[in-house]
Amino acid sequence: MSTIVKTEAIVLRSVNIRESSKVVTFYTRQFGKVAGMVKGARQSKSKFGSSLEPMSYVLLVFYKKEGRDIQTVSHCDLMKPFRKLYEDLDKMAVGMTMIELVNIVAHEQEQNIELFTLLQRTLNTLNTATHNPSNLLYYFEIRLAKVLGFEPIFGHCVSCRKELKEVAEVRSYKIHVEKGGLICAKCSAVYGHTALLPAGILKIFRQILASNEMEAVFDFEVDEKTRNIMESFIWTYLRYHISGLRALKSDQVFSKMFAGLKNAEGN
Ligand SMILES: [Zn+2]
Repeated sequence: MSTIVKTEAIVLRSVNIRESSKVVTFYTRQFGKVAGMVKGARQSKSKFGSSLEPMSYVLLVFYKKEGRDIQTVSHCDLMKPFRKLYEDLDKMAVGMTMIELVNIVAHEQEQNIELFTLLQRTLNTLNTATHNPSNLLYYFEIRLAKVLGFEPIFGHCVSCRKELKEVAEVRSYKIHVEKGGLICAKCSAVYGHTALLPAGILKIFRQILASNEMEAVFDFEVDEKTRNIMESFIWTYLRYHISGLRALKSDQVFSKMFAGLKNAEGN
């Protein structure tokens, strides 16, 4: 027996099958990750329109049957179009990385409203961003770690729990990735450290964790060197804490795309 259910969802992946159908992976508000068969999705007069594109925010109606791997989709309608995500390469790169991350960390049919809300709100903010859209990826990744239960500890030493305040003359702070955050000088003499985080970046990360106002990240002006340090820290951290996280496909695709564009500009 199947029941018909309705839920908000974000499209994570869309794969063509047979002549006219698609199998679409949704991240739903109510049921976690759901794979759905959409019959007739590729017919020219399909009622589904652009609602099956990755990153779409939709209202999904499907026949839910326990124990079935692929559910049958009845309706899928755009809740709100995120058009700018498809028109701006920087935004698209950020958005595609976010949905790919969610596809990796989310479990089939396991509700996580916090994760859904984070993804939906971040895509919405990315759509309306006017500058520095890539900063939003740092917000998303740090918040993702928090939602999944391994929030980086930036307020005290991960070993002795001594409070670590920002001191003007300290230029960088020691990080112990395996233990999950900052480590004080005394403890790092015993346990070592994995990375050094410049004071300016620590300040950004602390602000990201302290406030739900994601628009604030657009005000951070980050140069390329700082960006590389931030990305490398977040990646080392996420890769250690999320099993099965490999280099993301979208990252590779987009770095190739950008390299191509840069070459074209140089000619
Ligand atoms: Zn300590």
